[in-house]
Amino acid sequence: MTKSYTLMTPGPVPLPPEVLEVLALPMEHHRTPEFIALFNRVLENLKKIFMTQEPVFIHTSTGSGGMESALVNCLSPGDHVIAVVSGKFGERWADMAETFGARVTRIEVPWGKAVRPEQIQVELQRNPDAIAVMSQACETSTGVLHPIREIAQITAQHKALFMVDGITALGALPMPMDEWGIDVLVAGSQKAFMLPTGLSFISFSKKAWQRVETATCPRFYFDIRKERAANAAGESGFSASVTHVRALDLVLDIFLKQGLERVHQRIQALSNATIAAAKELGLNVYPEPPSPSLTTLSAPDGIDGQKLRNDMEKNSHVIVMGGQDQLKGKVIRIGHMGAIRDEDLLDTLRALANSLNQIKPGFLSPAQLDRALEKANTILQMHPAVVLKAAPSLT
Ligand SMILES: *Cc1c(COP(=O)(O)O)cnc(C)c1O
Repeated sequence: MTKSYTLMTPGPVPLPPEVLEVLALPMEHHRTPEFIALFNRVLENLKKIFMTQEPVFIHTSTGSGGMESALVNCLSPGDHVIAVVSGKFGERWADMAETFGARVTRIEVPWGKAVRPEQIQVELQRNPDAIAVMSQACETSTGVLHPIREIAQITAQHKALFMVDGITALGALPMPMDEWGIDVLVAGSQKAFMLPTGLSFISFSKKAWQRVETATCPRFYFDIRKERAANAAGESGFSASVTHVRALDLVLDIFLKQGLERVHQRIQALSNATIAAAKELGLNVYPEPPSPSLTTLSAPDGIDGQKLRNDMEKNSHVIVMGGQDQLKGKVIRIGHMGAIRDEDLLDTLRALANSLNQIKPGFLSPAQLDRALEKANTILQMHPAVVLKAAPSLT
């Protein structure tokens, strides 16, 4: 823990120093009037990030808990669902639905590609009994961005709900739940929310609430009806993670004071800068289209992606992710969420160039790296990092 690394992974992400300070505050009980006031402010502010009039709920769980909550609250065993599977997280959600007794029709999308809205249309026409379409907004294992808005327009014409795992999308790019017509939207704390792992967030549309009331999937911890009743009385159903929620309060305050648009623009700028620099370095972007929340770069011919990321970690103390399963050794993934300063991205590009040359001497010229850094820097200058103010008092 004494070694300092530049964390550039798409979750967990580097935390702002102000968030770290709040995380170190003494424990407080979650039933005190002070915490209850803070908790309610957080619930209200979360609605502004989800851009919904419906309540948003907090589970003390990883993001996958939020994905499970979406399923157990809307499904009954035997229900038919259509799942977009374009990588590891799509697989996970489809497997989870099967675990709870759903019949799952999988739309297998080649990794790195986005699902086409017509595919959803076709499957819904072929399977009129389907009660839900499930998709990631950003499939973090490949870095692709799916056409969520277009899919929502299609599901709106059917009885099927549209459930979206927005864990690497919400807070990173526009995802207005009500305006687009998303029925169930899930987010998590350790991605764009700049917090440690441990909270998931979820909201249900009016169309989804009808399912929530009648679904027969066994549910206890994630039973959103219990949480709704507790929240209506101003409290959390179970012990709130006071530490996480206090830090969330700070992050939401920052997001809303700075404007969500500026937060999104900064992440988009990190993505644009990375892509522009990659071109100068002769590297290709793997997914089409890429999500702004992370950039997945193909490892060049003859260079193993896993070796490349390991070398960046060992020699430059920069941590990026490799690929999993069919992408193992083929890509590196660079995160753009969290408290990333300009110099963190520039250091990452230097580390990348350094390791490429380490593995394949002469792969890059110093002039190429200079041009890449200059391109990236120019873009970053236009959208400076969102600066935080001093940590606030407790309430
Ligand atoms: C990180 C992530 C998750 C959640 O993973 P946990 O480890 O359970 O927090 C789910 N979906 C996507 C797309 C993610 O990026």
